[in-house]
Amino acid sequence: MAGFFSRSPRTNAEDDGTSGDEPLRPIDASDAARRVELLDSFEAAGLGWFWATDAKGRLIYLSENAAHTLGWTHGETIGKPLGELFIPEPLDASETAGRPLAFLLSARHSISQLNVRLAVEDQEVWWEIAGKPQFDDKQRFTGYRGSAKDVTAIREGQQDAERLAQYDSLTGLANRHRMTERLTSILKAYRNSKRSCALMMLDLDRFKQINDTLGHPTGDELLKQVAGRLGRIVGDKGEIGRLEGDEFQIVLPDIDDRGALGELGQRLVQMISQPYSINGARAIIGTSIGVAVAPYDGLDTEELVKAADLALHAAKGGGSGQYRFYSSDLQDGAKYRRQIEDDLRDAVESGRISMHYQPVVCTRTHRVKCCEALMRWDHPDRGPISPNVFIPVAEETGIIRKMGEWALNEVCHQAKAWPLDLPVAINISAVQFAHDDFPQVVQAALSQSGLDPERLELEITESVFLGDAGRAQRLFGELKEIGVKLALDDFGTGYSSLSYLRKAPFDKIKIDQSFVRGATEAENNNAAILSAIVGLADALDMETVAEGVEARDELDLVTERGATLVQGYIFSRPMPNDEFIEDLQRSEPTYEPRGPAKYRADRKSVFRRIGLIHEDSRYKVVMRNLSKTGAMIEGLLEVPLGTEVVLDLGGGQLVVATVRRSKGSVQGVEFETSLISDGAEGLCTRHRVSPYQIEAAGRPLAALPHDPYALIMSERLNSGARKKFVEVEVGNPKPGTGY
Ligand code: C2E
Ligand code: CA
Ligand code: CA
Repeated sequence: MAGFFSRSPRTNAEDDGTSGDEPLRPIDASDAARRVELLDSFEAAGLGWFWATDAKGRLIYLSENAAHTLGWTHGETIGKPLGELFIPEPLDASETAGRPLAFLLSARHSISQLNVRLAVEDQEVWWEIAGKPQFDDKQRFTGYRGSAKDVTAIREGQQDAERLAQYDSLTGLANRHRMTERLTSILKAYRNSKRSCALMMLDLDRFKQINDTLGHPTGDELLKQVAGRLGRIVGDKGEIGRLEGDEFQIVLPDIDDRGALGELGQRLVQMISQPYSINGARAIIGTSIGVAVAPYDGLDTEELVKAADLALHAAKGGGSGQYRFYSSDLQDGAKYRRQIEDDLRDAVESGRISMHYQPVVCTRTHRVKCCEALMRWDHPDRGPISPNVFIPVAEETGIIRKMGEWALNEVCHQAKAWPLDLPVAINISAVQFAHDDFPQVVQAALSQSGLDPERLELEITESVFLGDAGRAQRLFGELKEIGVKLALDDFGTGYSSLSYLRKAPFDKIKIDQSFVRGATEAENNNAAILSAIVGLADALDMETVAEGVEARDELDLVTERGATLVQGYIFSRPMPNDEFIEDLQRSEPTYEPRGPAKYRADRKSVFRRIGLIHEDSRYKVVMRNLSKTGAMIEGLLEVPLGTEVVLDLGGGQLVVATVRRSKGSVQGVEFETSLISDGAEGLCTRHRVSPYQIEAAGRPLAALPHDPYALIMSERLNSGARKKFVEVEVGNPKPGTGY
């Protein structure tokens, strides 16, 4: 209110608040002149304005000050209908602006707190108006008189607040609140129209490391760039939100094709893992993605989010940089992982962990040159568990430090006792490397065992460079001081910066299996990459190991491309220490290549009980192997070639197939449409039986049960129809090999 009364010159001069003997002159109702003066100063202060219309609703008065700020200085608005000048805010999008005001006016209602937008060009001005109809002494309507105040700034503030409540201020993406609202309303609406909606949950890999080592401003900038990339890839196909930290969510309406979703997941993984440049620094992260699709994996927000979360967990557990679809097995998977975590704690003490050794041979002579120590865990109930499963758990829980230290000691002791002074390589997790006492741990293992440091090789991956580069450098120095060798493992997978090679004193580069695999296929450029890596390593005077060589053509290729050493099943699988010692005791420790002529990636051995539908009968069979284009099944006798069947792979996945080979109880079938990758190692169908179909068959709508097809068909199938084929019992595989 300051300045309102002060605008009157008289009040200023007379009343400075000190003289007490001035007589009091209240403004009474009859003192029209002083009351007008009062209103004048109110108008002039801009605290509020007045307006008036005639009986026809035309503007006959508007405070001069107001007209001035709106640029209506020439009286051009006088005489215009009020409804044209003040445009009320539509209550919702379908409402035509202007109608309510005209309605209020014509009905001669009082107006209060009505927000109107002023009909001025190029700027958005909002007023809140109030007004009362006026009547003369004969009760005839004479027009409106009203007041107004500018609420533009207040509204903007409110909108900002709303935006803040709905959007993430760092990236400008929708926040969790908005995403949940959007998803909820989409799912509700889609349920009626039987549409589907996919949900992706993303979690960045290694973001925390960047944030911790390069600082939060860098982390923030990185998140912004990630948001930008997500936006470019997703485009108008969906809405992206940041839930918190490095967690993002994407809602993709009307998509249920898992092929399309897998491609999108793959692209997201690829694009997010391209290097980032932030204020001159370089950062590399990855992302894991979980995908769930409504109504298949969940009907409402809670169910769908939970499914996508589980899939995300599985994706992370499978190693970073993966997408993964939800499947009902994952429920068990989460439990499985918790159990692994619990059991891992005493696995070392209980002697269930051991080290196996795989020879690494010279490409030219096939003589064993060194070997790699690989950890094995023989679980009391589950049998052998892959290090790809338990190492990530050990890393996450920190148990890896204890296990790693144990492994170093075990390997040094065992190698010391070998009949040959063969070098041995051991895998070092980035988590072990992140602790400053790591060189001391290595030194202790060497001293206690008496192993020559020259014989010990540490395999590390590029992820150790993600932290503080100076620190890594210092550690490398200390390790070299001790005298051990260093190898860069899985080269070409994660971050693949050649600059690492210059920075660190590596003796060896291990070229990841993915470059060996498929390198002999025509359209694949892995062969060229192999040559480039070998050339570079030669120039830097480093040895190269081609990993994972299984087939003859792969061996030929890596030999031709100049890799100096080869490690792979073609020469030998990893084996327990005593077996390895036997190999080393041979007079000439060389290995013969033994393997298929060509790598057969697509045929995967499995053992899965599935359903087979033929005509009106449903049979139980066992799937023995599976590829994108076909499968081998067992359990039916003498099925003629050319028979059309439907395989029910579970989870609503139906595949139409034709029998192409048939021998006794084993059939080879070819699929009508190829399967697609499920993001992990597995395959899945593009589409599934929709819960809407199940609903149409008279069942309540629900996320897909484990065996939905059996549910729909239970009445039709096997209803007395005579089975055409004879079913035979197929035994279980050996325990422990299932996982
Ligand atoms: P890695 O360091 O890349 O080890 C090579 C992996 O390739 C081993 O898997 C080995 O058995 C497998 N391999 C060797 N030749 C072939 C082949 O011809 N074909 C195929 N398909 N695979 C082949 P493994 O033993 O299951 O170990 C998996 C990963 O677990 C290792 O990958 C390594 O990252 C980690 N790991 C294993 N042992 C240890 C350990 O003691 N400490 C740490 N930190 N990590 C370990
Ligand atoms: Ca390795
Ligand atoms: Ca490797």
